[in-house]
Amino acid sequence: MRKNGETDADYVRRHNIVKRAKGRAADYPCEHCGGTALDWATIHGTDGLAVDDYMPLCRPCHRQYDPVGDRALGRPHTEESKRKIGQANLGHNVPQSTRDAVAASNQRRAGFRHTPEAKARMRAGALLREARKRGDANVVDVPR
Ligand SMILES: [Zn+2]
Repeated sequence: MRKNGETDADYVRRHNIVKRAKGRAADYPCEHCGGTALDWATIHGTDGLAVDDYMPLCRPCHRQYDPVGDRALGRPHTEESKRKIGQANLGHNVPQSTRDAVAASNQRRAGFRHTPEAKARMRAGALLREARKRGDANVVDVPR
């Protein structure tokens, strides 16, 4: 899925990450139907910056999963393609609870970055847990 404000070049660069790491999507079965995949689709709810944020999908499954798939390939939607997407999405009802959860997750993720202090705390905590696992008696707890 293309992110807001992302240019074609950005989109291609982002997808090249996964292509370099995993090869062509066509070498994998489609994650949804098991057919031959064609595209690497960005998994919804991920930021698409990690290789694992992608799954191989065949074109029909990609379209269904991700209606902007066509535009991602550099073609704008035509009236005809909009109509087809509307048809494909008919009867696909996402429960309100799922919509709420996705909206809440997007809200949390929007612009979220760990502060340097938070990162330092996480690192210190990890070191402390490792030391305790080793049974190191000289470990001093980190201030919280
Ligand atoms: Zn498929």
